[in-house]
Amino acid sequence: MATITVRPGRERPIVQRHPWVFSGAIAHVRGNPADGDAVDVFGPGGEWLARGLWSGASQLRVRLATWDAEQPLDWQWLRAGIARAVEGRRHLLAGDDTACRLIFSESDGLPGLVVDRYGPFLVVQISTQGMEVRREQVVAALSDLLSPRGIYERGDADTREREGLPPAEGLLWGEAPPERLELRPLAMPGYPGEPPRLLVDLRAGQKTGTYLDQAANRARVAAYCRGAELLDCFCYSGGFGVYAGLAGAARLTLVDSSAAALEMARASLEHNSVAAPAEFVEGDVFRVLREYRAAGRRFDAIVLDPPKFAHSQGQVERAARGYKDINLLAMQLLRPGGTLATFSCSGLVSPDLFQKIVFGAAVDARRDVQIVERLSQSPDHPILLTYPESEYLKGFVCRVW
Ligand code: SAH
Repeated sequence: MATITVRPGRERPIVQRHPWVFSGAIAHVRGNPADGDAVDVFGPGGEWLARGLWSGASQLRVRLATWDAEQPLDWQWLRAGIARAVEGRRHLLAGDDTACRLIFSESDGLPGLVVDRYGPFLVVQISTQGMEVRREQVVAALSDLLSPRGIYERGDADTREREGLPPAEGLLWGEAPPERLELRPLAMPGYPGEPPRLLVDLRAGQKTGTYLDQAANRARVAAYCRGAELLDCFCYSGGFGVYAGLAGAARLTLVDSSAAALEMARASLEHNSVAAPAEFVEGDVFRVLREYRAAGRRFDAIVLDPPKFAHSQGQVERAARGYKDINLLAMQLLRPGGTLATFSCSGLVSPDLFQKIVFGAAVDARRDVQIVERLSQSPDHPILLTYPESEYLKGFVCRVW
């Protein structure tokens, strides 16, 4: 097995079980590892630290996968990791038709592997060389352990490109999923009433079909929407709107730049027999909010769930301006005592920074804003303590006076 030695001072995060070794941390490489090979990582004093998987073209040169010197990174390791991830989510799976993330990459000790369960189908994202070369082992373990009807791949092209991998999409095993699937969201303890039925397009939808990470938050936010006029910004397939409609919202306005997303949202509201009148607005949220402000429109509740604004450290400042802009506009559109549910899914924007941004918006809006709940990603996207980057989604439910 090839070995790498890290530079002095760079062993600390490895000892503390952070799973990334950047190219700049490596002093030298012995042997000639191929992409995806297991490599042993040593400290500057020659002490064994961890074992990981090699990615020759990536800045993240090694993804660490075990801190046990006796543990080879073979197919049994992979299978045991998959089994553990599934076991940890048993309590969330309400039935055979539940939508749930089963494997969340580094957070589950399986860097580069995301697996979402959509009822009888599994959707896989492979984003590292280590998992790319183990693709067949992944499919064998998943089909064996979970007996799905089909396993479908939805590779994220940008992430794969950064890793030096070609785009990948298509059926990996079994039967192809139908165009639209009806699913049950995560079982959320404490949610009043029967949860809605989700409509998901596994092949053409965004991400792996839907934004599973917001499942718990949709239920939380709906609790503030009884009798409310709700503005759901960046609505995608209408998750927040459907929950709010079922919880008794009086009127729904859903905004997204994607016509296909709005079409899904419309179908989803209908499918769940939401009675409240709904308006679907295709447009840029930044512009729509300004138009509403100019027209004097007001709402009782607003959801802001934008896409990732910051993809690199260099984009954080611009992202912060974007978040502040929409939050300020939303505060101005709320009636006194209204509810703002505001989110950021940019991992590079820390919860602390996000709070400062919303604070800045409140000062400029000249409104009293109280945080009444702090939200994070749903429990099927666990945050690994030694890998703080896995905490990427944060949100506040605010009362705006
Ligand atoms: N709230 C959704 C997920 C939002 S994902 C849910 O609960 O499922 C972000 C969405 O924002 C995507 O649907 C994307 O089409 C949309 N989007 C991205 N930029 C936008 C913009 N400037 N204006 C309006 N919508 C935008």
